[in-house]
Amino acid sequence: MSEKELRIRVLGESVLRKKTKKVSKVTPEHQKLLSKMARFMYDSSGIGLAAPQVGISESLIVVDAGNGLYKLINPVIVNKKGRQVLAEGCLSLPGISVEVKRAKKVMVEALNEKGVPVIIEAKDLLACVFQHEIDHLMGKLIIDYVPFFKKFLIKRKIKKI
Ligand code: ZN
Repeated sequence: MSEKELRIRVLGESVLRKKTKKVSKVTPEHQKLLSKMARFMYDSSGIGLAAPQVGISESLIVVDAGNGLYKLINPVIVNKKGRQVLAEGCLSLPGISVEVKRAKKVMVEALNEKGVPVIIEAKDLLACVFQHEIDHLMGKLIIDYVPFFKKFLIKRKIKKI
């Protein structure tokens, strides 16, 4: 983790497909990185960002879907309920929008930026964003939800990336 400015990684860069490492000890570097990621997310008009998207294979996400900023370490979904389908975009797949079926409500366990365990209950858009960002930590992207026949249709768009 350096002082360099963050750069977004896009489809095709291997870090996006790697499962991230859990953070075993929260350090000031992690806190600094989470703040940088939040700034980067706001500057990019995003509502969530996961560390692999800026080239760091660690289990860190930032989320702000209009309910305030969450900076989370080692987040996991421990409970899911209901279903919703929203059209999602991703900073790592510019210009692509995919409808993704996800749970409507989730419970997320994580550490906050101070390393304190937290439990967050989220629904609707916020629940969707948590699921999207936690997918990134496992190397999963929204295009993985596209059925085969539809993949063909967005292939050309993806090629441009
Ligand atoms: Zn994304």
